[in-house]
Amino acid sequence: MAEIIQGERLTDAADIGAKNTEEYLEEALARQREALVPQEEPDEDAEGRRYCLDCAEIIPQERVAAVQAVRCVTCASKRERFAKLTKGRGGAGRVMNDEEFGGK
Ligand SMILES: [Zn+2]
Repeated sequence: MAEIIQGERLTDAADIGAKNTEEYLEEALARQREALVPQEEPDEDAEGRRYCLDCAEIIPQERVAAVQAVRCVTCASKRERFAKLTKGRGGAGRVMNDEEFGGK
């Protein structure tokens, strides 16, 4: 009898552990996606061409279709590097974005 109870407890603990890990990973991934793809208004003209928010270069259509880019490859990679550098230091990139689009 005691063995069965112990077995059940172990199973429950393992289930809870797995669930928490799954939820944690899900949350971490969501945060990462958010950080890599900021929700920003694309600079788009009537023909659907998008211009980089930082340097105003036309963003290639394939890039827009693939990652919903709002910046050219050069500026986006600069920003990703910047985001990595400032990670864990108060999220300077995040604050910058919020200020930029605070009115929306
Ligand atoms: Zn650019």
